Amino acid sequence: MFCWLQEQVAVGGDVLPRALLTEGFRFGDRKMPALHPAGRGIWKPKGLTTALSLTTAVGSPYSDRIEDDRLLYSYQGQDPESSDNRAVRRALEESTPLAYFWAVKRSWYLAAWPMFVVGDDLQALRFTVQADPMGATLGGASFTGSMGGAQIAGEAQRRTYGTQQVQIRHGQQRFRERVLTAYQTRCAMCRLSHRELLDAAHIIPDADGGKPEVPNGLALCKIHHAAFDSRVLGINPEGHRIRVREDVLEGVDGPMLRHGIQGMDGKRLWVPRSPELKPSPGGLRRQWDLFTKTA
Ligand SMILES: [Zn+2]
Repeated sequence: MFCWLQEQVAVGGDVLPRALLTEGFRFGDRKMPALHPAGRGIWKPKGLTTALSLTTAVGSPYSDRIEDDRLLYSYQGQDPESSDNRAVRRALEESTPLAYFWAVKRSWYLAAWPMFVVGDDLQALRFTVQADPMGATLGGASFTGSMGGAQIAGEAQRRTYGTQQVQIRHGQQRFRERVLTAYQTRCAMCRLSHRELLDAAHIIPDADGGKPEVPNGLALCKIHHAAFDSRVLGINPEGHRIRVREDVLEGVDGPMLRHGIQGMDGKRLWVPRSPELKPSPGGLRRQWDLFTKTA
């Protein structure tokens, strides 16, 4: 499953749709879903003794919760001894890695692995889960996992670091999904609609205190994202007209420059109708001032 997940995120990105995870991976001569096909959170396929994956739901009261660098995962129901809960407990006892599908929006999940069940709280009726970026060894094969091979000595530090990374990625992906949804999964400049080629750009960069919220975001294709960040293009906050930097406008080059960049000059940015989703005028103003200084 981990190898299959690796292939899926390489092509489709970190966030995978439920349909793909339900279809699953080849296991012997059959297909094995990566999550519970009927929508339960804990997935223990027939024939396995430990849980294979945990899935969170958007809007569930316990999802998205993290305490002391541990993800909290509620028991299935109230009975600690139900077969689902026992399958998770066994993953804890045997240190068996599993996959964690953390919802970023309905039916779309950040896929994280290898994750380990590290605690079992019978009073609070929940498990705690952590990531381990050093990966797991299973049957002689080692899996680097979704966090890359961070070289951190000491299991505790590694798991703290890994879990923080998963949490950061979850925040980034949730921002991306919200922005793409607000912009109908199209570039705000050229209307390109290929999801794989789209980014959620920050208007005020993260490093300058820009918040990961839709009004500080723009759905842009990769080229327009880079052009906006490097101030090849600017957006006039009055009327949302796109401007191309003077020297770039005068350049001579192939179709990407001619159509992709120069062709944007004077075009109007597409923005969501709903006022609470529109780009923040203050943020656009700040970036426009920087652009006009560069131009
Ligand atoms: Zn574009």
